[in-house]
Amino acid sequence: MASLYPRLEVNLDVLEENASILLGKCRLWGISPVVVTKGFLADPVLAQAFRDFGFSSFADSNLANLVKLRNLLGSQVQLFLIRLPMLEELDTLSMYGILPFVSHAEVLERLNGIARRLGKVQPVVLAIEGGDGREGMLFEEIPEVTKLLRHLSHLSVYGIATTFACLSGVLPDYEALRRLVEVKNFLQETLEKNVVLSVGGTTFLALWEEGCSPEGVDEIRFGEALLFGSDISRKRDIPWLKQGAFVISAEVVEVRKKEPLQEGASGYDAFGEKPFRNFSGPRKRILVAIGKQDVDENQLYFDDAHVTIVGATSNYLILDVEESAKSYRVGDVVSFRAGYGAVLRAFLSPYVVKVYRGRKVRKGE
Ligand SMILES: *Cc1c(COP(=O)(O)O)cnc(C)c1O
Repeated sequence: MASLYPRLEVNLDVLEENASILLGKCRLWGISPVVVTKGFLADPVLAQAFRDFGFSSFADSNLANLVKLRNLLGSQVQLFLIRLPMLEELDTLSMYGILPFVSHAEVLERLNGIARRLGKVQPVVLAIEGGDGREGMLFEEIPEVTKLLRHLSHLSVYGIATTFACLSGVLPDYEALRRLVEVKNFLQETLEKNVVLSVGGTTFLALWEEGCSPEGVDEIRFGEALLFGSDISRKRDIPWLKQGAFVISAEVVEVRKKEPLQEGASGYDAFGEKPFRNFSGPRKRILVAIGKQDVDENQLYFDDAHVTIVGATSNYLILDVEESAKSYRVGDVVSFRAGYGAVLRAFLSPYVVKVYRGRKVRKGE
């Protein structure tokens, strides 16, 4: 039986519009865009669409996704592994011409050995800690690493990269950029070659919008802006981009007035979290056949303002519809605008059917 729900619908027209706007902005700013594909598992339909829209650089945090992209898009696209590589991945990434982000000297030495064996030069990106407390070498380590690099004849430094607003929510600013440009200039002088400064992700767009000159920045890696038209680091929709490219739909399987047992002893929910219990009397709830296994319920947005998402179990999403003017019934299909985490999980879930809409959808997709 082919199932229809739960379903993730992707609107390629909306993505094409965002692609075209972002390509235009990047041209204006003199920066090359890199599409980050980890949010949609490097899904071949989307990846091919972005290639067709005009992007030629892609980045993912998963090597298998990048190998998939290399086979799909061919040798002309540039591919970056933006999660620091595991040692077991070095041979594969070298073989597939994938540029890794690297933050340790040992890894540089190993990559150099592999490239020597393969008789080629491996380009690498040095991950630099910019202030978010995530990955990357510290500024004071850079002179030492540069000295080492001069001896690694089969490596070539493509560029340096930094990432903001990922772990600690630290937002990038002018000062952070100035320090990175300094590192870039230092490397260019010492290595006597061009070095690219790559920044990510979407959070950087706000700097340029505010009028900060992107002087010295060569590349920006983004996923969220292109896919969702939003910037979660500032909790905002980006006004010049389109939202709503991803919609998740699922079927209502129960409608009842109920409330959790008041006198029941209070424990934790199935995921070890302290559950939310509200004892305001019985309220009408609907159960929808989609759960935490398929989506992140915290990143679903429902267009009935009088409905709240109570929570989710592995396989149900529970909505409080007491205040809604609409009368929900079993068998109804409800739809949500989906954010980054919800879409990522929907792509990971084999239970969610993927459907593509738009002018350019080819037959069979
Ligand atoms: C996820 C990621 C990005 C893209 O971030 P968005 O917020 O989706 O634009 C860029 N760089 C790195 C290293 C990442 O892990």
